[in-house]
Amino acid sequence: MKKISQLFLSFLLVLTLAGCSSKPAESGSTFKAGTYTAEAMGNNAPVKVEVTVTADTIEKIVILEHKETPSISDLALSEMPTKIVEVQGLGVDTISGATVTSDAILEAVALALEEAGADIEALKKISEKEVAKEADVEYKADVIIIGAGGAGMAAAVTAHQEGASVIIIEKMPRVGGNTILAGGALNAVDDGSETALANEDSVELHYNQTYEGGDKQGDPELVRELVSNAWDGVEWLQSLGMEFKEGTFTVLGGMWPRAHKPVEPVGTGFFNAYQEYIDTNENIDLHLEVTAKEFIVKDGEVIGVVAEGKTGNKVTLHANNGVVLATGGFGQNIEMRQEYNTIWKNLDESIKSTNHSGATGDGIALAKTVKAQLVQMENIQLLPMGDPETGSLSGNIEMAVENRIFVNDEGNRFVDEGARRDVMTAALFEQPNAHMWTILDSHDYPTGDEVNNFNESMNQLIKDKRAFKGDTLEELAEQIGVDPKNLVNAVEGFNSHVEAKTADEFGRTLYKDPINQGPYYAAARIPTVHHTMGGVKINTDAQVIGEDGNVILGLYAAGEVTGGIHGANRLGGNALTDTVVFGRIAGLSAAKNK
Ligand code: ADP
Repeated sequence: MKKISQLFLSFLLVLTLAGCSSKPAESGSTFKAGTYTAEAMGNNAPVKVEVTVTADTIEKIVILEHKETPSISDLALSEMPTKIVEVQGLGVDTISGATVTSDAILEAVALALEEAGADIEALKKISEKEVAKEADVEYKADVIIIGAGGAGMAAAVTAHQEGASVIIIEKMPRVGGNTILAGGALNAVDDGSETALANEDSVELHYNQTYEGGDKQGDPELVRELVSNAWDGVEWLQSLGMEFKEGTFTVLGGMWPRAHKPVEPVGTGFFNAYQEYIDTNENIDLHLEVTAKEFIVKDGEVIGVVAEGKTGNKVTLHANNGVVLATGGFGQNIEMRQEYNTIWKNLDESIKSTNHSGATGDGIALAKTVKAQLVQMENIQLLPMGDPETGSLSGNIEMAVENRIFVNDEGNRFVDEGARRDVMTAALFEQPNAHMWTILDSHDYPTGDEVNNFNESMNQLIKDKRAFKGDTLEELAEQIGVDPKNLVNAVEGFNSHVEAKTADEFGRTLYKDPINQGPYYAAARIPTVHHTMGGVKINTDAQVIGEDGNVILGLYAAGEVTGGIHGANRLGGNALTDTVVFGRIAGLSAAKNK
């Protein structure tokens, strides 16, 4: 194993321009010194800012009030004010994935500066690009990881625990990728435990459901690897300080109550744990806003990566042992969706996605350059649970699959709401406007202050008109504009099967409580692209397999960039398991190489 000392830090190759930060004075802008407040509409409510200026400097920007969605907007709220002050102008790039919040901040600051007498048009021309371009740099480490999502971070921490020095590069200004936006549900069975016995669950059942739920297209060896190492993954996360709630639940399309829910909202628990590890250890470094562009290959072996830094500078990364590709999927790449889709009628820009904006399939393009084998690229998963405005999973009011139904715009049920994700989405596409309502009652929301995975309370969603409430079903039907008779019939029919514990006309068998305790709640949902199950072929050591069937030396892959684990349909709750299990395997294999 190479020693940590081999990690040497940047040396300057080229020193590029100085272009010192431009002051508004240079563009002719001056201010009336003072403190000004203004607001502009964000995603959920106005964002209010306070801007302090001297005669020639924007000194301070504080966000006074906002109701933006946690984790998604955090970066915009912290970074945008800093960047504006840094640049001393308004030509600041918005934060990918939080564009609306970023724009709201820019607009509110512009309004405040206008009041301070600034020349807004001139300030808009002062951009980040004018700030000094950074120098080209080179780094070396035992293991280079591309992508700081779930799989990349699990690989990084594991490789480091195995004694390797590690550098992670991430193209976005934050870690997390799609993983941090995920609901947080992680499927794992602790075989023989009280919970598993009580749920009549086993690793074998997890295997069967994963394999059969993917129409037997998954590679049996990879599926076996996934389910057998899942619980070990949970214990490993706990050893890093991550906490899970008691018990298990059934996540949408998860087929069985074996999902573990982190204590912290969405996927933040994973990244707080990984970040803590990185922060408290030497020789494991994370570089944000560095985008992998090509592999460095020598004699058929991948030995490094050439990347681009934030300011367009060249970042060269040499790997002593191996490179881990953990770049996620291509849910946000419309061209690739169209190129590979053979299953859905249409996946053009009219179909939104739950994914973060960086899910553009870079890893697939990179893998192609070294002739990696791509498998099952047509297997693109949609969910019936997208927010009508953004396609994201936020605003989802379901707490667990058992206690809610879906009705279409006429107020009628149309599918087994415990079915596979592809089945539910295909059924939703057939409904008027391809639009539906999740309906549930107070069993899961005794007070309305309970929060969903996105830390959004029902009461807040109602205030924001993203969810609706009625003391009776008729009242709810009126609120959402569906036929009250149909809605009442739908709920009564459902309740009769809950009571009788019999399969209903759609074949649904997953039940817990009837829907009979007002107030009743509804929220609108649409089909949305969620997960690209096809990708780079790997073996059980997470080594990438070439078109010729041989291992590509030095290259490992894990997470959504890989293909052939989930087959035609990924079980809800298996993606996070995938990032942890195969991320760890990739990290271990890369660290042990040489
Ligand atoms: P997974 O679940 O497989 O870990 P994620 O979507 O959570 O996938 O994470 C993938 C990460 O890889 C994202 O944070 C994404 O921004 C990052 N990424 C994608 N392409 C590149 C690239 N070319 N260079 C560096 N990072 C990348």
